[in-house]
Amino acid sequence: MGLHPAIILLFWCIFLGAASVPAGATDVKDPFIELTSEHFRARFTMEDERTQVQTVLRRAEDYYGRIADKIGYSRYQDFWTWDRRVVIMLYPDQYAYARFTGFPQWSKAYASRDTRLFREHTIVSYNGQDNFLDEILPHEITHLMFWDYVGQGKLLPVWFEEGLAQLEESGKKDQVQAIMGPIVSAGKQIPFDSFNVISITGEKDEIKVSLFYAQSLSVVLFLLEKYGNDAFIRFCRELRDGRSFDDSLRRAYPSIIGSSKELETRWIRHFQQQ
Ligand SMILES: [Zn+2]
Repeated sequence: MGLHPAIILLFWCIFLGAASVPAGATDVKDPFIELTSEHFRARFTMEDERTQVQTVLRRAEDYYGRIADKIGYSRYQDFWTWDRRVVIMLYPDQYAYARFTGFPQWSKAYASRDTRLFREHTIVSYNGQDNFLDEILPHEITHLMFWDYVGQGKLLPVWFEEGLAQLEESGKKDQVQAIMGPIVSAGKQIPFDSFNVISITGEKDEIKVSLFYAQSLSVVLFLLEKYGNDAFIRFCRELRDGRSFDDSLRRAYPSIIGSSKELETRWIRHFQQQ
């Protein structure tokens, strides 16, 4: 004769209860306060920052929708709901942020997929930065969404990811083509042979860094504005399916752009025609 189901159930309840509260465990209080929205979980430490953090979540959701539409993520799958929400960790100040993460003083924010420090998709930053909502937040969200969509370990030019990450940064789109026009006319742009292979990490020359970011955004904008969002979505989908950068260009822009060399030519010509 077996045990009555009610007794088994009771046993399980006691067992699970016991398992979740180990003997002698002290109550370790989570120093973070948590607020959630559909796709994000914000963690912060100061109660008086609650309203500010609600704004962060509202803006994050706006960016999520806009970025998803641009890269075709919304047609794919709603990845970031429930327990897969992206965590936004906000330290009270730069000091606490640098101390906890070990990042250098100049670092303002960080997006991670899966590291020893953070197991979930996480954006780490600190409160009180003027450009957090308009620049840092959309930039880091775009990186995470693109990595999630296209997959890890793809060898893509860094400029493409950085150009994409700047699309939702406020004000940049309007200025960048005006800035790049004279640079391209003077032939001072970065030639694609090197543009395609450089990673800007570690570069100390601020002018080079600024040019790299401006040119990255300019080329991505050119693709989007000249050939439209549907072709851009096709391009991202080809990348996701594991095709090379050039192959993806060829398939998304048939008989228009056959390689990144051709992309360079067309991008330069676009300024010459203005
Ligand atoms: Zn970036």
